[in-house]
Amino acid sequence: MQVVRDPKTFREACEAARARGARVGLVPTMGALHEGHLSLVDRAKHEGATFVALTIFVNPLQFAAHEDLGRYPRTLEADLEACRSRGVDLVFAPEDGSMYPPGFQTEVAVGEITKRWEGVHRPSHFAGVTTVVCKLFALTGPSVAVFGRKDYQQWRVIERMTLDLDLPIDVVGHPIVREEDGLALSSRNRYLSPEERTRALGIARGLHAANEAWRAGMRDADALRAIVRGPVESAFDSIDYVAVASPRTLEPLEGSATEAVILVAAHVGRTRLIDNLELA
Ligand code: AMP
Repeated sequence: MQVVRDPKTFREACEAARARGARVGLVPTMGALHEGHLSLVDRAKHEGATFVALTIFVNPLQFAAHEDLGRYPRTLEADLEACRSRGVDLVFAPEDGSMYPPGFQTEVAVGEITKRWEGVHRPSHFAGVTTVVCKLFALTGPSVAVFGRKDYQQWRVIERMTLDLDLPIDVVGHPIVREEDGLALSSRNRYLSPEERTRALGIARGLHAANEAWRAGMRDADALRAIVRGPVESAFDSIDYVAVASPRTLEPLEGSATEAVILVAAHVGRTRLIDNLELA
């Protein structure tokens, strides 16, 4: 496995792989890797990638000033070991500053779909995400790029950007990987005290109850939202949103739904967690 730290060397390594006839798969991450990230590597291979590039970059552009950029977990050595054992071919872990050198002044921003939910609570977040993902796409030249549905809105935003800019890349959304008790794996779970870790299950409990209700025939968007909100409200310190939305446009749903995604963001202690459930 090759590990590179500067964008130009990364581009050359991807070019060399393509020149050998490889189908390049890209898995962008912020590191502190867990099984959720590694399942994206498996998925890239399953989608036909014969050369998998995984990027590790805690992208400052997607954090607001009051957010957790400074304390975001950085575990590069363990991450590289995990990548090696999962069969990643190339890791790109850019040095701070190399992605945004002096003079950098371009932003890639997607419209409407970025304005809701996460976009309300993290107004500059998605422009930071789409800008860095666009750069990673340009450096890598992947045939396929895999994102987790854990960040459901992010996946839909990147799908939209790829379509709108005619980027020749298959964007794949991989299902959420969870702990046995239902907690969605997240690098931010490391922030949780044991007591907060227990309370964090409120989201999975709410989503599970909504799933049961959906399977029993419940279709009313308000009622589904209430089912999720109850357990989240009692376990979490504050809620940013519990939304029942259209899976593709992410517009809020009212009345009877034929398909939906339930999106949740809430705070336990100093930690903000997001999760979601697709219903179809
Ligand atoms: P992050 O490092 O948090 O930016 O995540 C990198 C990628 O891994 C994103 O596409 C996430 O959606 C995905 N991811 C993170 N956690 C999970 C999970 N539990 N299941 C599936 N994908 C995940």
